[in-house]
Amino acid sequence: MHRGAPRLSATAGTVPAVSLRRVTKRFPETRLDDEVVAVDELDLDVTDGEFFALLGPSGCGKTTTLRMVAGFEFPTEGSVHIHGTEMGRRPPDRRPVNTVFQSYALFPHMTVAENVAFGLRMRDVARDEARRRVAEAIELVQLRGRDGAMPGDLSGGQQQRVALARALVNRPKVLLLDEPLGALDLRLREAMQVELKQLQALLGITFVHVTHDQEEALAMSDRLAVMDAGRLVQVGTPAEVYERPRTRFVAEFLGDANLLTAEAVDAERVRLPDGTVVRIASGRSAGAAVHLSLRPEQLDLVAAGTPVEPHLDAVEGTVARIGYFGSAIEYDVALDTGGPEVLVTARLGNARGVVARTVGERVRMRWTPDSVTVLED
Ligand code: ADP
Ligand code: MG
Repeated sequence: MHRGAPRLSATAGTVPAVSLRRVTKRFPETRLDDEVVAVDELDLDVTDGEFFALLGPSGCGKTTTLRMVAGFEFPTEGSVHIHGTEMGRRPPDRRPVNTVFQSYALFPHMTVAENVAFGLRMRDVARDEARRRVAEAIELVQLRGRDGAMPGDLSGGQQQRVALARALVNRPKVLLLDEPLGALDLRLREAMQVELKQLQALLGITFVHVTHDQEEALAMSDRLAVMDAGRLVQVGTPAEVYERPRTRFVAEFLGDANLLTAEAVDAERVRLPDGTVVRIASGRSAGAAVHLSLRPEQLDLVAAGTPVEPHLDAVEGTVARIGYFGSAIEYDVALDTGGPEVLVTARLGNARGVVARTVGERVRMRWTPDSVTVLED
């Protein structure tokens, strides 16, 4: 049942697994706080069967969004549909979704098997059927043999697996995960990222995964949405969002970005502060001041004066700093065009052509025009 290529977009005619329409959530004024607009006119479609990540800094409204899908909160305005059915004020147990939280929220006095079976008991599933499904869920999260263990005897990673099994046992159409790996240390988190992704592909269930960790969102999702201050800023595949950030916020939140200012010459070219004209992927009206984003790994350093092939653009500068990271080398380059120093990352290992530069060396930095993104703000 393994699914092949990730789905890149909603197929016309299919009903989205989750659909939010102009969803706003306001929390009323309290003694300490003014009214909070936690989610602000959110429109979002999650395709059936996809691994969808909701990414943004702390406080941007991710949890509130997820809780409105789960039914723990209701929108102040707008609507939530799951597989085409409007949820209205339906409570969580009457929605075809389950939630896995960062705090595992296991019952400490129940065994692993009892914790996993809990939701089925609530739903009056027949005993034999329940036993079979509990065993299956425990197997899925690779905890076979630990059925009788108490949560307190398990590691954090194992406890999170129990929480996952407890959600999967209900066979939800959509699994909601709110920073499920946030409490785990880095090694375990990375291992669990791979496992969760494999599990999702195996089961074909739609996952909506909330995280503030950009690498996690990029590594795991078929598509991701970047949120800022209650709003959706950009939705796309990891490559689309990383390589074509729409705004400065997205460019800076996801990885390292070099932001340059320039002036639009025409739809295909911009002028850097020193007058150098370079090409861009897509443009603005002439004369407008624009911000450009250039990813460090899309830049290439060669010796100053190296001829530039016609399909490339280039500027010269001086190496100001070098950082060696084993698998990569980072250079800060002070450009002759002025502006802030530019970060250039060269991957080592299979890139045999990489030549180590030295601080103070004169270099030429070159790139293909499609790696220059014009930001909207
Ligand atoms: P995230 O999960 O992205 O960190 P949240 O959805 O938890 O963000 O919170 C978004 C905003 O809504 C924050 O400003 C938070 O303080 C506020 N908020 C969340 N829940 C409540 C609540 N129950 N009452 C009042 N304000 C809340
Ligand atoms: Mg949260």
